[in-house]
Amino acid sequence: MGQILQGKPVALALSQQLKERVADMRRQGKTPRLAIVRLGEAPDDIAYEKSAIKCCRDHEVDVQSIVLPAGTGEEQLLAHLQAVNDDKQTDGCLLLKPLPPGIRESKAAEALAPQKDVDGITPGSLAHLCGLDIAGFPPCTAQACLEILDHYQIDAAGKRAVIIGRSLVVGKPLAMLLLARNATVTVCHSKTKDLPAVVREADIVVAAMGRARLLGAEYFRPGQIVLDVGINFDDQGKMCGDVDFAQVEPIVAAITPVPGGVGAVTNRVLLKHVVDAAQRVLG
Ligand code: NAP
Repeated sequence: MGQILQGKPVALALSQQLKERVADMRRQGKTPRLAIVRLGEAPDDIAYEKSAIKCCRDHEVDVQSIVLPAGTGEEQLLAHLQAVNDDKQTDGCLLLKPLPPGIRESKAAEALAPQKDVDGITPGSLAHLCGLDIAGFPPCTAQACLEILDHYQIDAAGKRAVIIGRSLVVGKPLAMLLLARNATVTVCHSKTKDLPAVVREADIVVAAMGRARLLGAEYFRPGQIVLDVGINFDDQGKMCGDVDFAQVEPIVAAITPVPGGVGAVTNRVLLKHVVDAAQRVLG
């Protein structure tokens, strides 16, 4: 039986550290502050916004919601992002995506100041991930995977890591983060040949495809660490990951559940980035 790498203990440990750091900052007269920018009324965005607001309030971090109508034009959005950049009280900004049609995500990403880019969407944050000496943050989901490895004292150095998925939100940034931890990284995608054979070679497997339970027993071997980033819903409407947990958990050394794994850590990472951004301002 594999060890279940639950996200909750990781989130609780991060919460404890964050509460201490925020209390210390508040004693110095600084309260970290997050701005959340939402366009339109998409239910997923509203749910994520609510959970981020609750997380901020639980940790005494200030939070401001900037809600713009779905029909907002690109120029107007860029002006709002510039106002966030200019606001000295605001340390971090979360722009909820996907953006409505007609707004180029690349333009929005370029408009935000990398030092306030707490979910790693700007070109500056990508450059930071690649090791350049530029302010920025990794995307929260990618960083949440590292927080899980750290909490459970899993050292990636020298290990073969296989990431399935090459998005800018998860796969590519995580490849850079694991490379920086001295793992040997392979990134797979929909055109990868013989995916089961490639995945079986890994010591650490990260599934970030968005395909419900696609990775069954034939992809795995004993001794592997499996991080399942996927959030999917099966035919019965039940939330599940990219890995078939029931088949794979008895085979591997350790695995994150869905729900309750990586997703349970992501908003604490967001908060950590806001507090880090505020710390940079304090010096
Ligand atoms: P995405 O942009 O749709 O990217 C999916 C990636 O998976 C692509 O690179 C795609 O390859 C690859 N892929 C799809 N089907 C494949 C297959 N059959 N074999 C091999 N590769 C395949 O998705 P994303 O935004 O990265 O999200 C991935 C998953 O993570 C989703 O389930 C999402 O809901 C979840 N997620 C979770 C969190 C969290 O907090 N836990 C946060 C963000 C996302 P190509 O590039 O070749 O198309």
